[in-house]
Amino acid sequence: MRTIADNIAEIRNNIEIARKKSPCPEQEITLVAVTKMHSAEEIHQVLAAGQTLLGENRVQELLDKYEAVGEGATWHIIGHLQSNKVKYITDKVVMVHSLESMSLANELSSRMQSLGKTMDCLVQVNIADEESKFGLEKDAVIPFIEKVSQMPGIRIKGLMHIAPYFENVEEVRPIFREMYGLFNEIKALAIPGVDMDVLSMGMSHDYQVAIEEGANMIRVGSSIFAV
Ligand SMILES: *Cc1c(COP(=O)(O)O)cnc(C)c1O
Repeated sequence: MRTIADNIAEIRNNIEIARKKSPCPEQEITLVAVTKMHSAEEIHQVLAAGQTLLGENRVQELLDKYEAVGEGATWHIIGHLQSNKVKYITDKVVMVHSLESMSLANELSSRMQSLGKTMDCLVQVNIADEESKFGLEKDAVIPFIEKVSQMPGIRIKGLMHIAPYFENVEEVRPIFREMYGLFNEIKALAIPGVDMDVLSMGMSHDYQVAIEEGANMIRVGSSIFAV
């Protein structure tokens, strides 16, 4: 019988293979285990396999699981975050993947300042220009980062992308490549207060391609939990 631990071992193995083909074969690849729609009991199996970095895309689910899972986990919020929900997560997550508006940046900045802390954030980019998805258009990314880099309580650590689903995974490759280009372009600007270190892209269906094209953080859900 397949277990969650088996799945994680297989994913780690695939990560290693893809990393060797990537533009930075030496860099570490961070796996975020996406726990949406899965129980605390299943999540405990993820932790037992040594995978302690978890991601949730909805605030309510994050809050429920934060309580149910307890200690030993580190959480990222990876999905759309409404400004009015920021107050619930500021002391529970260590990274926000979905920074994409000034109103969210303003709210995060003021909440984090009042805690005397700083939140690591990724700027969500919608490079494939799908109307249904969140994220900044490519041309808006650099001006946005320049503005937010001045704001206390927020540290921009990189970019995040949710790619469209293609049956043939090769079709997503140019999109990941374009994201990696943008990532390097921003890194080269060396904007004060910005660390362009993290490129979060790739999910169960396409994480190997994402890594091959320069991702160093992947968000994997269903392949971990399919047993
Ligand atoms: C659900 C989700 C994932 C993981 O997707 P899988 O296909 O289950 O691996 C990654 N990122 C975001 C933002 C998600 O909502």
